[in-house]
Amino acid sequence: MSNSSALVLFSGGQDSATCLAWALDRFERVETIGFDYGQRHRVELDARIEFRAGLTTAFPAWAAKLGEDRVLDLSVLGQISDTALTREVEIATTSSGLPNTFVPGRNIVFLTFAAAVAFRRGLKHVVTGVCETDFSGYPDCRDDTIKALQVALNLGMQSRFALETPLMWVDKAQTWSLAEHLGGTPLLDLIRDRTLTCYNGDVEHTHEWGRGCGECPACELRARGYQNFRSVVRETVDV
Ligand code: ZN
Repeated sequence: MSNSSALVLFSGGQDSATCLAWALDRFERVETIGFDYGQRHRVELDARIEFRAGLTTAFPAWAAKLGEDRVLDLSVLGQISDTALTREVEIATTSSGLPNTFVPGRNIVFLTFAAAVAFRRGLKHVVTGVCETDFSGYPDCRDDTIKALQVALNLGMQSRFALETPLMWVDKAQTWSLAEHLGGTPLLDLIRDRTLTCYNGDVEHTHEWGRGCGECPACELRARGYQNFRSVVRETVDV
């Protein structure tokens, strides 16, 4: 298992795209993995390919480190969960206080499959864009969940994986800042234009923060984060 290698959980959204750049900045060999679980916003899977292609063109040094990509079929997750991400229902908060976009155990399943692939590929660092700061109410995005899972995976696979969560304690505006720090304007432009975060998978509408319906919780979070990032940049320039 190489200490300078990583597997990035790459969905095609803003957060995981930033994590991919973060990993390419740090590690010598980086592979990506995505999951098809019957999500309504399946165009996200196309965004993965577009973003990787753009990254390869704009950042030759990173292209040299970027290895294989694979998409695992986890349609079984869609079969066992009844959520707004996998069914044609309105996005809302349920009586449990969790949004109905919550796919129970999704990140635990993703990370477990990712670790199984990382084990086979000899990749030590498993990178995920989960975040506790802009709390969307997903308990499997919490730092404690990830830390507990790291222990369980390492015990269960007799390995020394490090589950990396570079975005755990930053908000969406800081995620844009991190992207700017890592790859400047070319990376910001790539993330804005080629990633997709929208729960409705809307690629028809374009905004200053990228593509999306502009109305779902994921779009609202992304729009607000971008606007905050831009206003901070403007303040800094004014000073
Ligand atoms: Zn949306």
